[in-house]
Amino acid sequence: MNRFEYTIIRSSRKSVSINIDRKGNITVRAPHRVSIRRIEAIMDSKSDWIEKTLSNLPKADESETEKLNERELKDLTEAARKAITRRVEYYAPLVGVTYNRISIRHQHTRWGSCSKQGNLNFNCLLVLMPPEVLDSIVVHELCHRLEMNHSKAFYDHVLRVYPDYKKWHKWLNEHGRKYLDMI
Ligand SMILES: [Zn+2]
Repeated sequence: MNRFEYTIIRSSRKSVSINIDRKGNITVRAPHRVSIRRIEAIMDSKSDWIEKTLSNLPKADESETEKLNERELKDLTEAARKAITRRVEYYAPLVGVTYNRISIRHQHTRWGSCSKQGNLNFNCLLVLMPPEVLDSIVVHELCHRLEMNHSKAFYDHVLRVYPDYKKWHKWLNEHGRKYLDMI
């Protein structure tokens, strides 16, 4: 069990790299095929370096989160398309609605949206977060097929299908900024 928290970004790269930004966020970039166990082992072997780097971080919190490059963003969008489509397919019957098209974007302003025509939009960054966050956003957008507003009736639908909604909405409010800074 690793004692550091980190975000894994998989892409078609050849080797594993560990980056620590000025805020102490640890990002591991890895090829698609490298197992979590292998990544944990690499993290363990680098733990002295990680600890030292974390303890030498600058004090100011006006520092920059490292941006994803174009290839990473493309890979992330593809991974998001697969994962999000599966969750939409799973939740749509539970909400009791149909939908039209699913689009994956990298927007700086929103996590998801749903048009009157039932076209769903999701932010690719959601797949980097705990899966519960993604599920809560999927349910939120699908519930807009029932209510195109944020009324009590709307949230009644959300909570019926996803009782933990508030907990993960709060998580997103607290941690979402850090992810948006990656794009
Ligand atoms: Zn909404």
